[in-house]
Amino acid sequence: MSDNLPPCPQCSSEYTYEMNALMVCPECGHEWVPGGADEAAAPAGERVIKDAVGNVLSDGDTVTVVKALKVKGSVSGIKAGTKVRNIRLVDGVDGHDIDCRVEGFGAMQLKSSVVKKA
Ligand SMILES: [Zn+2]
Repeated sequence: MSDNLPPCPQCSSEYTYEMNALMVCPECGHEWVPGGADEAAAPAGERVIKDAVGNVLSDGDTVTVVKALKVKGSVSGIKAGTKVRNIRLVDGVDGHDIDCRVEGFGAMQLKSSVVKKA
């Protein structure tokens, strides 16, 4: 079983099952919509990450760095206009939501606010 159903929000029972679009708890009879109505705009696990000009970014995108960035241990840093291929969106520390490899620098995390979709 690779399906990992959420526990019952009412009684924390793990024996929940899906019925049509609903989740059902056999222990307390609670029925709910997975994800919850209050999260309807952003399904669980999916965040919308936008670049400097508002384009929505996704995994595998190629982006261009829009401003010079200082890099620890590098004199030159990353120049504006540097292309970064195959980004991965992450829930990074301190707003660093892009995981990528920058040529000449290696793996690092960038903020989506300093890149533009190429
Ligand atoms: Zn329950």
